[in-house]
Amino acid sequence: MRILITNDDGIRAPGMQSLVRVASQFGDVKVVAPDRERSACGHSMTMRDPLRVVPYAFDGLEAYEVNGVPVDCVNVGLTVCWPDGCDLILSGINNGPNLGFDITYSGTVAGAMEGAINGIRAISLSMATFVTGAPAHYQTGESWLMENWVSLTTTPEKPLTFLNVNIPAIDYTELRGVRVCGMGQRVYKDRVEFREDPWGRPYYWQGGVVVMDPDTQPGTDVEAVSQGFVSVTPVSLDWTDRGHVETLSKCLGHPATGNSR
Ligand code: MN
Repeated sequence: MRILITNDDGIRAPGMQSLVRVASQFGDVKVVAPDRERSACGHSMTMRDPLRVVPYAFDGLEAYEVNGVPVDCVNVGLTVCWPDGCDLILSGINNGPNLGFDITYSGTVAGAMEGAINGIRAISLSMATFVTGAPAHYQTGESWLMENWVSLTTTPEKPLTFLNVNIPAIDYTELRGVRVCGMGQRVYKDRVEFREDPWGRPYYWQGGVVVMDPDTQPGTDVEAVSQGFVSVTPVSLDWTDRGHVETLSKCLGHPATGNSR
């Protein structure tokens, strides 16, 4: 199995080492990852600047660090490492959760998304730590992935979809199992914080505190992880709200609105 691995925490991140260790047991792994942390870059790509691709010593594997984001890394990987394509693209293991619609901000998830766009089976993986500085428990992620590798990578493939996996940051023995579930909601308050620099000039820093009650979100990744389950969410690249197409076209096509032409 030909495997390409990327992440958004940078090629030196411990979560990437966990992912590489497991994947190497099952296939031929090549790594292309950002040269520094690029978390929350979303599905962006570098277009106005050159991408520098520098060999990186990674346990004897073919690996490169790139001055770009995960999307860049996937596309560089498919050009430099696997010009004839590969069988699996993995992104992670991220330091922090990628739950609910936070996945739209996530560089980790974007790596898998880019894999799916290229028609390749892709999985994003994240350690769901909820307190800054709390241990990420990558060993739990490593053990869970090792045990579930075969089922995770041989599920029937659906084109233009990928899997988003969140592993609770707890001891492996405390994991309660796995749940296949939908996306929940992550809502923040105090998103933008006002501060002053040493010269008294104002600036703003974006972060915020999550305010959400997992118990009100049954059947979601948010609930699953809060209860100690690994969440696996199939994500489609097609964001169309199919259920709303007919209603909307009736509204927008109604002569009375003046928008019939
Ligand atoms: Mn990250």
